[in-house]
Amino acid sequence: MSGGPTIPPEAADMAAEAMRHLWWLRDAGVREVSLSRAPGPARPAVAPAPVASYAQSDKGCGSEPLLAIRSELGECTRCKLHGGRTRLVFGVGNPSAEIMFVGEGPGADEDIQGEPFVGRAGQLLTRMIEAMGFSRSDVYIANVVKCRPPGNRDPEPDEIAACEPFLKAQIAAIRPRVVVALGRFAVQTLLRDATPVSKQRGRWREYEGVKLMPTFHPAYLLRNPAEKKPAWEDLQLVMKEFGKVAPGRAT
Ligand code: URA
Repeated sequence: MSGGPTIPPEAADMAAEAMRHLWWLRDAGVREVSLSRAPGPARPAVAPAPVASYAQSDKGCGSEPLLAIRSELGECTRCKLHGGRTRLVFGVGNPSAEIMFVGEGPGADEDIQGEPFVGRAGQLLTRMIEAMGFSRSDVYIANVVKCRPPGNRDPEPDEIAACEPFLKAQIAAIRPRVVVALGRFAVQTLLRDATPVSKQRGRWREYEGVKLMPTFHPAYLLRNPAEKKPAWEDLQLVMKEFGKVAPGRAT
């Protein structure tokens, strides 16, 4: 028995068929055959799958580490929120901000514009930032979840679990001196503490080695204007951290 390779029967049949074809051509007087492929029917053009690419000029991507996080996140389908989003809302602002504001998740306006805190609550947040003596472009703003929960419902635990690593990575990339956690979701998620915000606000905490100030969400302040005073006290504690004095109060 020979020790050579075993030829599968289909291959042997094909080779025999090819030989019969060549003998037939020889008998027909053909002395040369070309090995080039005969033109077949045109193949349908298959467009390559689009590869989303991002740039440092994209919102919230203004440094190499932030751009790397954005690229890793991609056109995310890690949780069910992706199905209802118009745009993923990564973040916005200064990539080396000393203060970072973290909210819950995009609402309808943010979903359309792809930028956090641009609706009514966002306008109040901008006024709060300015009353602190900063501008919106000085700080960095992001959310716990990056896609809009349908009908503005609360984000669910699996959605938070899928998204939080990216927020954590953003905080590590920016390395702010202070994180201001806005409202129940941001406060309770980041601190793993289910105590109501009204009991946590105004006291310095720590998240991943960064000082964290829990305070009310601007949307809550729009519904409960009486709480603006304690929220402003919380922000004044943050300002003190930066050696700033209060010029006034956000209205
Ligand atoms: N509320 C949030 O928590 N985040 C936004 O971006 C907008 C509204």
